[in-house]
Amino acid sequence: MTTNLSTSVNSMFKNTRHLLVSLLVEETYFKSAQLFSIKGRQTQAMINSGSQYSEVLSDAMNSGKQESNTHIINEFDRHNHTFIITETQSPLQTPRPPERFRVMLQFQKCDCGEYQAKHLPYSHVMSACKSINVNPMNYVPTLFTLQHILHVYDNSFSLLA
Ligand SMILES: [Zn+2]
Repeated sequence: MTTNLSTSVNSMFKNTRHLLVSLLVEETYFKSAQLFSIKGRQTQAMINSGSQYSEVLSDAMNSGKQESNTHIINEFDRHNHTFIITETQSPLQTPRPPERFRVMLQFQKCDCGEYQAKHLPYSHVMSACKSINVNPMNYVPTLFTLQHILHVYDNSFSLLA
């Protein structure tokens, strides 16, 4: 997400690098105000159309769901909090030994570190959820709801004279 944001901001200022610092600051302010306005309208339109989450989240969940089909799941406690996920590979991928990761749903952690980094269910978490018939959306923080994102874009910029 951070990489996407920096790429987006860099492309916004593609033609402004030759400006004086004061003009660059002013341009940054105006472009940011414009971006927040556009993104706010887009987010509101998605909410109005009945969406609850962004397309980025839906894409990530779909890809994680697909990838989870190649995992072998072992439960390691009766409370369904700890799992060992063994990644297998499809025959099209480069051969490598299967890797094992410990998923701890209760603490939202995995040995691979992806859960702690992205805070989103991905293939390991989705495998664990699937094995105990729990909806992985239960593990999506409210931070990723369109309503929460809209609050970010609702911040207004003061007019400059
Ligand atoms: Zn993992």
